[in-house]
Amino acid sequence: MSLFVVPTPIGNLKDITYRAVEVLKNSDIILAEDTRTSHKILKHYSINVKLESFHMHNEHKKIQKVLRQLKEGTTISIISDAGTPGISDPGFLLVRESLANQIEVFCLPGPTALIPALIQSGFPTDRFVFEGFLPQKKGRLSRIKSLAIEKRTIVIYESPHRIIKTLTQLLPHFGETRKVSVVRELTKKFETQFRGSINEAINYFSENKPKGEFVISISAELQN
Ligand code: SAM
Repeated sequence: MSLFVVPTPIGNLKDITYRAVEVLKNSDIILAEDTRTSHKILKHYSINVKLESFHMHNEHKKIQKVLRQLKEGTTISIISDAGTPGISDPGFLLVRESLANQIEVFCLPGPTALIPALIQSGFPTDRFVFEGFLPQKKGRLSRIKSLAIEKRTIVIYESPHRIIKTLTQLLPHFGETRKVSVVRELTKKFETQFRGSINEAINYFSENKPKGEFVISISAELQN
């Protein structure tokens, strides 16, 4: 009666732990955000376990069945398309409800974009705040304003389509002197990092069309 939360690579297929492969192989069922994506990845590690879809559009509908299976002794792992489930990906609801039903939850350490982006930023890591994706509409401006006075390093996930828009919206609140690190395509062939002011980042991405996956880290207020 255990739920395993299993991180999978964010790009480079070598970034999986021996334990993650072992836990997945020993699972009765693997819950996956997108079964087609996960099928390809699991095949790479010769993992042939029954995959069931579990994502933000069906998790409320499916959760009672999954809890029942866990209580019956089924070993279930949850994975997402990339990285750690529950980090801007499905997983939280199942973890919360499993614990509420006295089901043991084990989250394996492993790939996520958050930690490499933070460490690689060179900004203080002793205290940081992870914002995931900023709200797209309602609450976006007030979130940006509250982050502008944040005293910890800030980490934000962003899509290539919104990166310039987001940096442009951050600029008037964060000012000219705040430093950002924008990493792109972590662990992949075309991994790059930009470091500089927000204004410089806007200019850089206006000249270099943003493609791929991005994480923005912002230095805390009054830090260089
Ligand atoms: N669960 C994932 C994790 O643990 O990082 C996050 C999934 S979230 C749906 C996808 C976002 O994570 C992307 O838009 C990007 O901000 C970030 N991300 C994921 N993989 C990345 C990579 N290889 N390089 C840079 N950012 C990445």
